[in-house]
Amino acid sequence: MTGRSSSPTLRRIAKGHLCSGCGACAAIAPEAIKMQVDDAGFLRPLETRDVSREQDQNIAAVCPGLGLDLKPEGRRDHTLWGPYIEVYSGQSCDPALRHKASSGGGLSALLIHLLDSGAVDRVLQVGADPDLPIGNRIVLNDTGSDVFNSAGSRYAPSAPLAGIAPLLETEIRIAFVGKPCDVAALRALARSDPRVDQRFPYMLSFFCAGVPSLRGAREVLDVLGVAEKNVAAFRYRGDGWPGFATAISETGEKARMSYADSWGGILSRHLQFRCKICPDGTGGFADVVCADAWEADERGYPVFAERDGISLVLSRTKKGEDLIRAARDAGKLTTEPFELETLTSIQPGQRDKRRLALSRITALWVTFRPIPRFRGFHLARNARHATTRLLAKNFLGTFRRILTGRM
Ligand SMILES: Cc1cc2nc3c(=O)[nH]c(=O)nc-3n(C[C@H](O)[C@H](O)[C@H](O)COP(=O)(O)OP(=O)(O)OC[C@H]3O[C@@H](n4cnc5c(N)ncnc54)[C@H](O)[C@@H]3O)c2cc1C
Ligand code: SF4
Ligand code: SF4
Repeated sequence: MTGRSSSPTLRRIAKGHLCSGCGACAAIAPEAIKMQVDDAGFLRPLETRDVSREQDQNIAAVCPGLGLDLKPEGRRDHTLWGPYIEVYSGQSCDPALRHKASSGGGLSALLIHLLDSGAVDRVLQVGADPDLPIGNRIVLNDTGSDVFNSAGSRYAPSAPLAGIAPLLETEIRIAFVGKPCDVAALRALARSDPRVDQRFPYMLSFFCAGVPSLRGAREVLDVLGVAEKNVAAFRYRGDGWPGFATAISETGEKARMSYADSWGGILSRHLQFRCKICPDGTGGFADVVCADAWEADERGYPVFAERDGISLVLSRTKKGEDLIRAARDAGKLTTEPFELETLTSIQPGQRDKRRLALSRITALWVTFRPIPRFRGFHLARNARHATTRLLAKNFLGTFRRILTGRM
């Protein structure tokens, strides 16, 4: 949060560095809150007018920074990977989309199917910001070619909920794509506002290791030796799998860096604090969630060698499963059976996030920081699968980070 705050809830979130930048608070109090990039390069709520008591209470009920409550509701509930219906690997049937998209184009294929079949009128998603090529903007697409142009992961802040208040006043049906915390907030908003489920009948997400600040992309540009003012377009990955972080100049010159170097070496060191304690990087609240279905090497670790992209496609609701089947029948998506246990080795980041969240949150508790309430993620059971050394290291790391003010 930036500036003076009239909202006790936003003050508590800011004190705990718990904001994930989803924009739900701006949707709840659109005349009082707007999302703005702060000094650290993250999107945070800025209060331009006083937030009413009722709005404050609503923000407290919806904000994913303060808590999440994931209920299996009769579904299979995997301790690590959450509630699900089915799991596949899959690819878009369009080779151009497969090449442009982040992994196999699974998400975009589903979105295009939703538009083409008339199940939705628009897709609300994130794309590159023409005014700030390393940044994001929210787009409301109504054609498959617009969805195609928005494909690909953008490892920078996005607040897809910030502008939904006027959309709730309309009659249009919109497919929503966002980070897991964005979808969690939208589901929470639906509990108090029945218009949400009518306007947003489909909520899709992706596995999310965390959002880097804009400083991350600026460091990538520094290492590439490219001045930001000369960048006309910036891709974080895609154009292959995993593809390259690529800066393109006005004259069409390209400078690029591998995914392992850009994400692994730079961007992953610029994550916001909330992402480090996130129990829901796997999108537990979405209808369908996609991820990278990496190949594993002989030690079971993911291989990032360039190849044709493959998405992990996980249905978490019956509606999501019906969507996958319909997109497959319509020739938009191919799917293969996938063994869920394989994820434990090819998604080590997500596995460890879930196993170590409790030790990191304990560090908040002993330092009297605001503590988010995470229910339904089996954090204690997952922690038992981590070594004592790793749990202690993560507790101490977070503890030190808090004491030295490096949250
Ligand atoms: C911040 C971040 C962290 C990620 N961490 C992981 C991870 O730990 N493990 C993993 O397997 N995959 C991760 N991914 C997802 C992965 O990169 C792919 O998006 C996923 O495999 C789906 O690929 P696809 O080809 O099906 O998606 P595509 O067809 O390329 O569609 C991608 C969709 O994501 C949306 N999108 C892109 N960037 C953002 C953003 N910043 N905010 C909101 N929406 C966005 C686009 O609008 C588009 O609809 C991450 C993505 C992001 C943006
Ligand atoms: S996490 Fe979302 S709802 Fe909570 S303060 Fe941040 S932007 Fe607002
Ligand atoms: S890691 Fe969690 S909190 Fe961070 S952006 Fe992803 S879903 Fe949101």
